Amino acid sequence: MTIQAALAIDLGGTELRVALVDRDGKILAFAAVPTQAQAGPDVVIGQIEALAATVHAEAPALSIVGVGVGAPGPLDPLAGIAVGPPTLAGWLDVPLADILERRLGLPVRLENDANAAALGEWRFGAGHGAGSLVFVTVSTGIGGGVVVDGRILHGRRGLAAEIGHMTITNEGERCVCGVVGCFEAIASGTALGRRASAATAAGDGSTLRRLSADAEVTGRHVVEAARLQDALASALLEEEARWLGVGFTNLLHLYSPDVLVVGGGIANGLDLMLPTIEATIRQRAMRAYRDVPVVQAQLGRHAGLVGAASLVLFDDGGTLAARMPVGPSTFPDTAEQDRHGLTLRPA
Ligand SMILES: [Zn+2]
Repeated sequence: MTIQAALAIDLGGTELRVALVDRDGKILAFAAVPTQAQAGPDVVIGQIEALAATVHAEAPALSIVGVGVGAPGPLDPLAGIAVGPPTLAGWLDVPLADILERRLGLPVRLENDANAAALGEWRFGAGHGAGSLVFVTVSTGIGGGVVVDGRILHGRRGLAAEIGHMTITNEGERCVCGVVGCFEAIASGTALGRRASAATAAGDGSTLRRLSADAEVTGRHVVEAARLQDALASALLEEEARWLGVGFTNLLHLYSPDVLVVGGGIANGLDLMLPTIEATIRQRAMRAYRDVPVVQAQLGRHAGLVGAASLVLFDDGGTLAARMPVGPSTFPDTAEQDRHGLTLRPA
């Protein structure tokens, strides 16, 4: 029997990654290049086609059932349109799903990258088996996605669950969105690094500045220094954990997930922060919400990729039906090859 797989694409502002993923979430072939983010959509779509040909050549015997794409928002998952991601120059209302469907001869599903990662963790990772899940990624910013009853929560125009921009205080640094008090502005890895930089000075001999080689301190340095029992770093991480606990409490109240999964660079320090996060949740959440497990993501940087695959392997999110009927019998007969010699004919 031919193994069914999805062509998964993780279109990031810095890296473009393409893989073939089977129904167990296993990556059968993988290729990546730096995204030519300044070169415009035509060049990047050409990069996608080239990588698709590369991975297909690595595993030619598979039956590829469709293409799942995780891309930076804002985007319209139903229409398959990249609306205008700030990290990709010149992308304004690009009908990416239609373009890739034509070029690759396969059904294409487009999803917000954070939603795709949520789906990956729910289908194959830390949230496997849960009915509902909230995924929060804490790194440069804060993003996330919500899976409710086995589906991505989309909301109007696919804009639901913009977790990083919920207001959790009325003071502090201004967020990139222009508002004061966003979760992201207070609790992202960037915010943690900024507090650590402000609490130290180049050449002061602190552990944090030694780890950063006297440059600006990052959130990762704080986690590293806290592991070395550095008192300042531990205090900074404690404050970070309190803010995360406040934000997570809001998410528990709003979405009532079975599990809250934390990913992103700062999640590497989750074990150090968990006692304070859980104490904050116990203090702030209503009783019925206090026992929801907060766990670390399992799939790392591949969460978005396998989540994108899941979109077509399982019709997760359920919008494929609106774009194109699902099932091998409905695939276009791609007898012709595309210009990279890539034939993606269903078995
Ligand atoms: Zn904001």
